[in-house]
Order: sequence, then structure tokens, then C-alpha cells
Amino acid sequence: MRSHPMTQPTPSRDACPCGRGPDYPACCGRFSGTATPAPDAESLMRSRYSAFVRGDAAHLLATWHASTRPATLELESGVKWLGLEVRAHRAIDADHAEVEFVARSRLAGRASRLHERSRFVREGGQWYYVDGDLFTKDRA
Ligand SMILES: [Zn+2]
Repeated sequence: MRSHPMTQPTPSRDACPCGRGPDYPACCGRFSGTATPAPDAESLMRSRYSAFVRGDAAHLLATWHASTRPATLELESGVKWLGLEVRAHRAIDADHAEVEFVARSRLAGRASRLHERSRFVREGGQWYYVDGDLFTKDRA
């Protein structure tokens, strides 16, 4: 199964923050924490974006690979996340994948655009975020 990058329609009030929907409980909410593993790296990446939107630091830490995970995580307050666009999902092998995405946000009236290629690894049936490369030439 593979999903295609697409332009996101204007989300409805109840739409999942990641834009895939239909709503948070039926989308990324299923993978919050590690009780139900995300089936692929893209789903995990989307659930992590939704965790940023919802301020769910516990989910971010639970799905961060032990080799790169910070001891604690303080989410910047005041950031307004505006949307996620998944550009590419590349399976390297059964347990390694890369997801390229653009996440837009606004902080204190300033728009910013995070364009990153993230690396994920699967261990014990669970996908984890490892690290990522930023596309720094992008402008908001
Ligand atoms: Zn979602």
C-alpha cells in the first residue's frame, strides 16, 4: 500500500492535524503512544506531526529512536502549525525508510516552513524516528 503526495484540502474542524483524516481518533490518534504500532514510516511521521500540533510530547519521545532521543522535550509554546505535506515516502528496506515532508507553522506572526527528509527505522515491529536532513534553501 502506498500513498501519494497530494495537495491538502482545507481541513474541516474535526480533521486530523496531519491532513489525511477523517479525524484524529481515526487517523493519527490510533498510533499515539506505542500500543498500536504505525504500519509504516509515513503514518508514524504523520502521527508525530499531529503530536506537535497537539502538544503530545510523550508520543514524540515514545517514537524517537533511543540513539537520538533527547532526555526531555519541551515543545515551543505559541507555535501555530498550519499544515503538513508529505512529499515522498521511500522504503529503503523492510525496516528502514525515509519520509520527505514540508510542515508549515507560524510563531509570533512569522511564517516558517520546515522541509525535512526524515529517517525511520523499525525495531520489534515499531517504527522510530531517527534523524533528518533539512532542505535549508527553502524560503517560507
Ligand atoms: Zn493524521
